[in-house]
Amino acid sequence: MSSKSGGIRVAVIGAGMAGILAGIKLREAGLTDFRIYEKADRIGGTWRENSYPGLTCDVPSHAYTYSFEPNPDWSHHLPPGPEIQAYFERTMVKYGVDQHIAFNEEVVRCAFEDGRWQLETRSGTGDTADIVIAATGVLHHPSYPDIAGIDAFASDCFHSARWDHMVPLDGRRIGIIGNGSTGVQIVSALASRAARLKHFQRSAQWIMPTVNDPFTDEERAAFHADPLLLKSMQNDPAYLEVAWGWTEAIIDADSSTMVQTEAAARANLEANVSDPVLREKLRPNYRAGCKRLIHSPDYYQAIQHPNAELVTDGIECIEPKGVRTRDGTLHELDLIVFATGFDAHRFMRPMNVIGRGGVELSQAWAKRPAAYMAISIPDFPNLFMLNGPSGPVGNFSLIDIAERQWAYISHFIAMIASGRAREISASHAALEAYEQERIKAAQTTIWGSGCNSWYLDAEGVPSTWPWSYRHFAAEMAVPRMGAYELVSPDIGSMQ
Ligand code: NAP
Repeated sequence: MSSKSGGIRVAVIGAGMAGILAGIKLREAGLTDFRIYEKADRIGGTWRENSYPGLTCDVPSHAYTYSFEPNPDWSHHLPPGPEIQAYFERTMVKYGVDQHIAFNEEVVRCAFEDGRWQLETRSGTGDTADIVIAATGVLHHPSYPDIAGIDAFASDCFHSARWDHMVPLDGRRIGIIGNGSTGVQIVSALASRAARLKHFQRSAQWIMPTVNDPFTDEERAAFHADPLLLKSMQNDPAYLEVAWGWTEAIIDADSSTMVQTEAAARANLEANVSDPVLREKLRPNYRAGCKRLIHSPDYYQAIQHPNAELVTDGIECIEPKGVRTRDGTLHELDLIVFATGFDAHRFMRPMNVIGRGGVELSQAWAKRPAAYMAISIPDFPNLFMLNGPSGPVGNFSLIDIAERQWAYISHFIAMIASGRAREISASHAALEAYEQERIKAAQTTIWGSGCNSWYLDAEGVPSTWPWSYRHFAAEMAVPRMGAYELVSPDIGSMQ
């Protein structure tokens, strides 16, 4: 960002990975008049909300770091959740972002009035900002299953993102409902600790093999000693080739990468599950990549543990003593965990966001959440989103995505800070054309090939970036200003 003129106030909503990034970058640009509003009493977003046993990110540790803040101390090739949380906490302090955060302040209303955003928090705090950065994350509204009797269970019961660490686990009869990335990690962590673990699977999942070795002391010492080595770990060409190549496979379901991925997932199942009956229960009836691919070094071993059982009969209801399946069996349990995912389509809602002319976000998004380039919404000037609707999500680093989005947004912030524009938002025509193209492209991706997943919106359209990562990187390099409506500071005119 070139301008240092300042004089503008910025409100950032959310102090997770993206909100902390925004704080670091604002300070770097000399824009120190900003506040980050955080509804909880700690930063961390996803990594604060999730604390379940086995929590690990399936993106390689050194790729799951800010580009400007490498971390020589990752313990494993895949980063454990608590280490990620600690990394964000110390990075926040190192870059002086902590002094800008208002904790326990949930923004409930955000209205564009007389050219500025008026914010109001649940506790009644008010603020006025020229720019709002929505960094509220994607997967933070727990989704509870629509199962009869869900409140009837007499013992312990919670969602995976609301883990109650007071509840004992060892030697208990545990039921895990759901087998996405979360359920699979929990089963791996608990199979050997539970007296009996029942994994309730509605649809089978393709599982990619992965290794998660620890870094040795010598390796960590070398990362400390040699910044270039550490940097090369962040930009590991092997990871980038796989991650970027994967996005090309998603949009071309017949590509050789997709064929190889499917073969690897199938070979993993064949090689690691010996019982043919169990193997068939674990075999999905849709294409690999249709749901977000699961990477696990040990799920197949865990589900074959003598204490573990895969239950595929379908859940009839929950009763005081446990889960009853449609075959009439009552699975008696001491603890039920709902690893049933998140409502990924709410973004900053239920916050009441009101744009130019009184238009409400809930109206603008009545059909589906939409933002031009996943960043800007017509009639919501100077409100920019990090990890907003239709941005890339997948088996790669959301940090890299947010950094690229920030680079894009920083062009707008510089224009506003330097007085070259007063209001900036995508035009209706630009969003309409973008959405038309996006939906058309999304329908032919692997995500639309016939399975249920959180990628799909209410109409069954994949809601993520349906083009390659290369295309995303190119778009984020510099905004196409023709897609934006600008109000100039002097004459207040639209351009
Ligand atoms: P998810 O992928 O949405 O999986 C939800 C699971 O709950 C599915 O197995 C689903 O079954 C099941 N389910 C939902 N309602 C049900 C019902 N009524 N009865 C029975 N089963 C039901 O959620 P998640 O596992 O929490 O993962 C969400 C995302 O978080 C991931 O895709 C990933 O992006 C991220 N994540 C990443 C990591 C990582 O980096 N390793 C770890 C955890 C999460 P169906 O398949 O039949 O719908």
